[in-house]
Amino acid sequence: ARKFFVGGNWKCNGTAEEVKKIVNTLNEAQVPSQDVVEVVVSPPYVFLPLVKSTLRSDFHVAAQNCWVKKGGAFTGEVSAEMLVNLDIPWVILGHSERRALLNETNEFVGDKVAYALAQGLSVIACVGETLEQREAGSTMDVVAAQTKAIAGIHAYLLVFITKLQRNGLLGIFFLHRTSFLLVMTDRVSNWSKVVIAYEPVWAIGTGKVASPAQAQEVHDELRKWLAKNVSADVAATTRIIYGGSVNGGNCKELGGQADVDGFLVGGASLKPEFIDIIKAAE
Ligand code: 13P
Repeated sequence: ARKFFVGGNWKCNGTAEEVKKIVNTLNEAQVPSQDVVEVVVSPPYVFLPLVKSTLRSDFHVAAQNCWVKKGGAFTGEVSAEMLVNLDIPWVILGHSERRALLNETNEFVGDKVAYALAQGLSVIACVGETLEQREAGSTMDVVAAQTKAIAGIHAYLLVFITKLQRNGLLGIFFLHRTSFLLVMTDRVSNWSKVVIAYEPVWAIGTGKVASPAQAQEVHDELRKWLAKNVSADVAATTRIIYGGSVNGGNCKELGGQADVDGFLVGGASLKPEFIDIIKAAE
């Protein structure tokens, strides 16, 4: 069974005082045990040490991003190594706000995920379509392409020519015997460290939550994609969580869908309501 996962993405919000208040509220809350729900909150970088050192030990922290490769002369960036150094176990990568506002492409996000995993981080990898893409009927194509770049699946066809045969009449050579080898590569070495967050862009921060049926449909398709392109085991065990206007009122029904394994919560994760969302795991 897949353990329910509730992430709180605080985005670019909060003062030190507000962060302390949120942490206090979380620390005092009665929530289901770690065996039932995995809770991860993601404050802005500058508050990570504060939150990590004051947050209850059954909740964990995530960075909201990290650099695509080893640190160095990359002004303004934070490397995966630094997160590991500070014992930050999780990182959110490929959030739609970064894809849209900072031009992060599928390939760039895929590179980031591969690098972060290689450093030992666990990754919440985000995918999701815009309203325009949904209305054009391309939702599944979009999320499959995003997921494919994260999975890093490439197929190479190797062709071996073992014998050439000359046609005497024409004076040219023909391939007499060839063999083909299809090589598939998968950049995610450890899928147990990946959570996929399906976040339709039109539902983020808009109050227009996807209906439980809409979320279930895409989660189910994503799981089928994993079964077909990665493995049946990875499809069965990888958590696929939903994000986009999740709140205390709609979480229960969304979380009750067969393929919705939790949430990535934005706005409501800054409020006491986040506790109710964690309780939707029960
Ligand atoms: P909202 O919950 O504010 O819609 O944001 C969702 C989100 O982007 C989480 O990553």
